[in-house]
Formats: sequence, structure tokens, C-alpha cells
Amino acid sequence: MYFTEEHQLFRQSFRDFLQREVVPHIDKWEKDGAIERFIWEKFGEMGYFGLLQPEEYGGLNLDLFYTVIFLEELQRINSGGFAAAIWANAYLNMSHLKAEASHEIKQKYLTPSIEGKLIGCLCITEPFGGSDVAGMRTTAIKKGDTYVINGSKTFITNGLFADYLIVAAKTNPEEKHRGMSIFVIDRNTAGITATKLDKLGWRASDTAELAFDNVVIPAENLLGEEGKGFAYIMQHFALERLVMGINAHARAEYALEYAIKYMGEREAFGKTLDKNQALRHTIAEMSAKVDMCKEYNYSIAKRLNDGGYVVKEASMSKLLSTKIADEVIYDALQMLGGYGYMEDYPLARMFRDSRIGPIGGGTSEILKEIIAKMVIDGKDYKPVIK
Ligand SMILES: Cc1cc2nc3c(=O)[nH]c(=O)nc-3n(C[C@H](O)[C@H](O)[C@H](O)COP(=O)(O)OP(=O)(O)OC[C@H]3O[C@@H](n4cnc5c(N)ncnc54)[C@H](O)[C@@H]3O)c2cc1C
Repeated sequence: MYFTEEHQLFRQSFRDFLQREVVPHIDKWEKDGAIERFIWEKFGEMGYFGLLQPEEYGGLNLDLFYTVIFLEELQRINSGGFAAAIWANAYLNMSHLKAEASHEIKQKYLTPSIEGKLIGCLCITEPFGGSDVAGMRTTAIKKGDTYVINGSKTFITNGLFADYLIVAAKTNPEEKHRGMSIFVIDRNTAGITATKLDKLGWRASDTAELAFDNVVIPAENLLGEEGKGFAYIMQHFALERLVMGINAHARAEYALEYAIKYMGEREAFGKTLDKNQALRHTIAEMSAKVDMCKEYNYSIAKRLNDGGYVVKEASMSKLLSTKIADEVIYDALQMLGGYGYMEDYPLARMFRDSRIGPIGGGTSEILKEIIAKMVIDGKDYKPVIK
């Protein structure tokens, strides 16, 4: 219903590319906690960072189902960390550049990002709190034709190796939502320090805490209008949360397929595992849950692609898909017995990588708040960028 022949050809060629160019390096990157620079450039050369970007800046301007395929295939090579580094660059920081940046800023940052020559990151979360976005404390105070940034950010994907940072800060610290703006900051600007964080999963991706000490940037680095930062962030959350929902159904599907294959080969009590009714019923239930998520996510991707404003639906997608992915991966690991716990088998890494799903990019509790406001109180979120 959603995929044409061209889509399928793209899936096959991207799958081949990942097997050839990425998979041989994954274990090293997982161990080092860093992804080598050459692969970013290869993604750029292939146009993969530009799937949703305008042709004027070097993008391919394709429909959203190319992105769906891109995300699904990234999950199937089983490094949540590598996938996160790539999709965060393509769909978090680059989405802000695409929607809010001036022509000059797009030429300076967006085009080289599409080419894979520059890496970016999106800095919203702060050590004092991530869920309460409007309560952030980082400030950007206007002085002549500059802004001076002070504060800190934490848990930032690509925060260590990014060449530029998209940063949310208060231009009017007295205000909550209306006092926030978004900036692009060059990594080499004086006053920025970054510390790498150690974490449970996503081990190939770098996650950093950043400090800004009197960081002076040109006023042109303001993205969009002053005071609209919160609205911009909320608007991009629709795509970002759908991205995370799609990632979740794709990794759950991969875990399920792996478990089914394993069960057909492993014997216990004189028969393969897949002949046990109790296990068969568990697989049937896992399969039903994954299919429900996948079909829902495709339908929301279609609505978003056709111009729909899907804040509620994308929140629902992330809420349930990440929960189901955790459940399915937990059960898939169980099917492998002791081998499920071993690093030589894929389920161990999947298990720890999946756990970030209900936390990053809006926790499940916050998503429930948003959904409740819409379904109980009748709240309606409106787009700020037409
Ligand atoms: C690996 C990783 C990568 C990340 N990448 C990025 C990134 O690139 N950029 C970025 O900006 N951020 C990033 N984040 C941050 C992530 O989005 C935040 O961790 C998340 O939004 C939660 O914020 P917090 O950790 O401060 O938790 P808190 O806000 O302190 O919340 C703690 C707990 O309390 C619950 N809670 C809080 N308020 C309420 C409420 N009103 N009602 C009910 N429950 C509530 C939360 O759901 C949570 O369970 C990343 C995080 C991780 C772990």
C-alpha cells in the first residue's frame, strides 16, 4: 500500500550498502564508543542525509517512505548507537536547519551536512531537567550584533564529535515557553566544553554533556524568530517521535525474526523449540503486537507525508511502539536461553539499546500527558511553520 517498486529498490541498495560499508566496522565502533569519520562522508556521497531535504541545498526531496525504509534498515544491522548517531543528525539538527535557518545559514551548515562533511547535534536537555523543556536555564542574551550564551546541556547525541550545535536557550529568562529561541553554534567558538558520558546502551554513539561559558555568537545564528524556540521544538517533535516509533517497530521485527529462526534450529527434548505450543503462542502474540505498531506507524507516516499535523498520533506511536519493542526484545532474548545473554548473539545488544526508547526524545510519562491533554481536555496543537 505504501511502497512502490522504486522504494523497494532503494531498500535493497541501502541494505547492501550497510552490509558492505557499515557492518564490518560496527563491533569496533561499539567498543570504541565512537564512529569513524569516513562513514559520515560515505552516507553523504550516497545522498542518504538528504532524503527529506530540498534540492536547492543538495537534498533529494523524496517522500517520507524513503525515510521509513532508511530507519528500518538502520535498525536491522543491530547497533542502536550507530543508527542513533545517523538518524539524530539527519532528523533532529538538520530538521531545524531546514525549517528555520536563513538561506546563508543553510548554505553554511545544511549543504555540508547533506554532503556528510559536517555533523550536527540538537541540544535541548539540561542537567536540571529534560522533561520540563520550558524550564530550561541556558540563556542567550543579546549584546549589540551578538548573543552571549551561558549554561549547560546534557545527554546530547553526537555532542562530542559534532561540528555545529543547534541549541535552545532563553532569550528572555523571565518567560517560560515564549522566552526561548534556537541558535546554531559553531563547535570552534570559544567557551564550549564537552564531556563524554558512559551509558547502558547505544554504545557506538557519543553522548555528551556540554557547558557554555560566555560563548559569543553572531546574531545571524538565531534560527527563525526570537521567542519561537519552544514552538519550533514542539513542531519538530511530530517527525522525531514518529522516527522513534518506526525505529522501535523495526528493531522489534528484527528481534522477532531472529528468534523464530533460532527456534527452528535449536532442539530441546527431541524437537525444535518452535514446536512447543507455549513458545508458539508467545511468538504469535509478539508478532501481532509488532504488526499493529508497524501498520499504525505507516499510516501516520502517510498522513505526515500528505501534510497532516500528527502531534497526537506521533506521540501515540512512540509511546506504544517503544513499549512493545522492549517487551518483544525481552521475550525474543528469552527464546535463546543462555545464548540470549551472550554478546556473540544479537539479542544482548538489542536488549540494552532498546531501553532508551521510552526515555529519549520525550519520556512515556510526558507523552501520556500530551495525549491526555488532547483526548481529555480537547487541546489542539497548531503548526507555527506553514
Ligand atoms: C542516550 C540518550 C540520548 C539522548 N539524546 C538527546 C539529544 O540528542 N538531545 C537532547 O536534547 N536530549 C537528548 N536526550 C535526553 C532525553 O530526551 C531526556 O533524558 C528525556 O527527555 C528525559 O529528561 P530527563 O532525563 O531530564 O528526566 P526528568 O525530566 O528528570 O524525568 C525523570 C522521570 O520523571 C518523569 N517525569 C518528569 N516530569 C513528569 C510529570 N510531569 N509527570 C509524570 N512523570 C514525570 C519522567 O518521565 C522520568 O521518568 C538523550 C538521552 C539519552 C539517555
